[in-house]
Amino acid sequence: MQVYNTLSKQIEPFIPNVPGKVKIYTCGPTVYHYAHIGNLRSYIFEDVLVKTLEYLGYEVTRAMNITDVGHMTSDGDTGEDKMSKGAKREGKTVSEIADFYTDAFLDDLQKLHIKMPDILEKASDHIDIYIQMIEKMLEEGYAYQAAGNVYFDISKAKDYYKLSGKQQEELMIAVRESVHEDTFKRNPFDFGLWFTSSKFENQIMKWDSPWGVGYPGWHIECSGLACHYLGENLDIHCGGVDNIFPHHTNEIAQSEAYLGHKWCNYWMHGEHLHDKNGKMSKSNGDILTLSLLQEKGYSPLVYRYFCLNSHYRKTLSFSYESLDGASNAYQKLKKRVQAIPKDGELDQDIVLFYDERFKNCISNDLNTASALTIVYDVLKDSNCNGMTKRYLIEKFDQVLSLALLEEEQKIQMTEDSILEMIQKRKEAKKNKNYQEADAIRDALLQQGIRLIDGRDGVSYEKVKE
Ligand code: AMP
Ligand code: ZN
Repeated sequence: MQVYNTLSKQIEPFIPNVPGKVKIYTCGPTVYHYAHIGNLRSYIFEDVLVKTLEYLGYEVTRAMNITDVGHMTSDGDTGEDKMSKGAKREGKTVSEIADFYTDAFLDDLQKLHIKMPDILEKASDHIDIYIQMIEKMLEEGYAYQAAGNVYFDISKAKDYYKLSGKQQEELMIAVRESVHEDTFKRNPFDFGLWFTSSKFENQIMKWDSPWGVGYPGWHIECSGLACHYLGENLDIHCGGVDNIFPHHTNEIAQSEAYLGHKWCNYWMHGEHLHDKNGKMSKSNGDILTLSLLQEKGYSPLVYRYFCLNSHYRKTLSFSYESLDGASNAYQKLKKRVQAIPKDGELDQDIVLFYDERFKNCISNDLNTASALTIVYDVLKDSNCNGMTKRYLIEKFDQVLSLALLEEEQKIQMTEDSILEMIQKRKEAKKNKNYQEADAIRDALLQQGIRLIDGRDGVSYEKVKE
């Protein structure tokens, strides 16, 4: 297995700390809102990573946090706590918000056929762990107290900038938020481990600590959970590229200060999903959720297929046109797979041949797009009998998780979203984009909605089961 390591900035052979076993930590959601489909792209990439390692025979343990405290709107120490913001927005308590959006997140994972992490823990359930880590860092001079808060002193970290590969001046420009705003810090990039009085005003969740009643910083939560559940030596840590600085940079600084040695060997980062405004984000207009795509008639696995067709380290641009293309290709692929006859006996030589090729693709830094082409190669191989084709595709689907052999589940579309699709088809026709118009008609039919082109316009009927 070869992976791109953000730490070394190159593709490297993957060698776990303990042969045959892999420990992975993946940053989880901040549960103050729905996950947008950009966030979900990151979780799909991590799912493919876990399943690839399992396919190659490793025993994988994956841990993930649910952030329900301490994550500021700025990713640094400025702004408002995202959870408090969510609670205010909806007139609910922080724990109601956390429970609601955690459930929504778990639903999304299930719909996208993402395997549940082995360990999934709430940040707020582990306050004692963070306190114990902070105490040790204070004792050893990595942290300091100022105005009742506890900060990590980045000048004490060994090579603080190694993950981002950028120096302070460059990062100051990149992170445009007012890094100087917190006047209690010694260095602009020192970050909060524990906050009390100075950040207290709007904070709803708070706990007792040796430094007064307060709450932990966001970064210490991931270090705390990872060290507690996965031990002192981590193999892989993942997240989206926006996590490289400051979040993962700070995780390394504090974990290595606490442990006294190197912590994690491989850092893997997924590139962003973009929309027409650039990086998709929750503050950037309406949130594009998986449920919204479903209301518009797209099966969640169409979105998974869309993501698998591009490499996780490349920016992916979202548009309904490209999603329609993916939907069309996915439905066709499923039909072809389901039409494979159940004839012949398993041909071990052919299995070995294609399995090898599939492994080569996925173990080459998760090249899912070329792994998908192996599925098409199997389908069109006239020397391969039906039984062997089905066997291979079912096996590949352990990683792809596209339910290729399962019958399509119909989605309940709302009247509004059907009319919206009809309108989109009309526009596509007007622009002489007949391929897209047909793709929309086919996608609707797949969901049991048949369009009728009449003299007075387009109407629709529900197809009887
Ligand atoms: P958050 O809930 O904001 O903490 O983000 C959850 C995960 O989604 C993190 O790993 C982020 O790096 C990732 N992420 C945020 N925005 C995007 C995006 N537009 N595309 C892909 N991943 C993203
Ligand atoms: Zn994290």
